[in-house]
Amino acid sequence: MDSLEAIREQVRTCTDCPLSQTRTQAVPGEGPPNADVVLIGEGPGHHEDQQGTPFVGPAGKFLDNLLASAGFRRGDVFITNMVKCRPPGNRDPLPNETDACSKYLDRQLELIKPKLVVTLGRFSLKKFFPNETISRARGKPRRQEEFTVLPMFHPAAALHRNQFREIVEEDFRAMPEILKETISRIEPSSPPPEQLSML
Ligand code: URA
Ligand code: SF4
Repeated sequence: MDSLEAIREQVRTCTDCPLSQTRTQAVPGEGPPNADVVLIGEGPGHHEDQQGTPFVGPAGKFLDNLLASAGFRRGDVFITNMVKCRPPGNRDPLPNETDACSKYLDRQLELIKPKLVVTLGRFSLKKFFPNETISRARGKPRRQEEFTVLPMFHPAAALHRNQFREIVEEDFRAMPEILKETISRIEPSSPPPEQLSML
């Protein structure tokens, strides 16, 4: 898997867990190969399974609005999921399914090298922080070696609950500043031109 395209092809024909038997289409994920921001959801729902694209149902529309409030368009970020195939009836993914699928997400992160990883909901939060709860962790950026992780509520969970909705909206509005801070930490600003000429 030496490119995002190779991962996409492999995911589309993957039979490494039982979700392959019930999916319509696998949903590898989408976005620019050098995105600064990667968003990780849980798994495809009905609409995603039909179209092969992440976050295209009602939660996806809400996610587009959240991204817009942070000054991003969908095409600016890479969006994917913990499991690439839909769990039947939208049940939670099982440990054997997330385990079998993690190699794809891990490789996507290695290739994209994002500065900020936004986890949506508790499954992707647990990938990085197995002992954390979403209500405690949300909105607080955490530095990892390779990138900063910013946990958020899942848009599908927040969509119809006003209290959560306001929180996730507020957390997304804080995202540009967090990304800016992260970039300046990872890439300290280059020396001014007069110093460069002395090198
Ligand atoms: N919910 C998710 O977690 N992922 C999707 O792609 C769509 C809905
Ligand atoms: Fe393969 Fe992941 Fe789909 Fe399971 S969920 S069949 S591991 S791509």
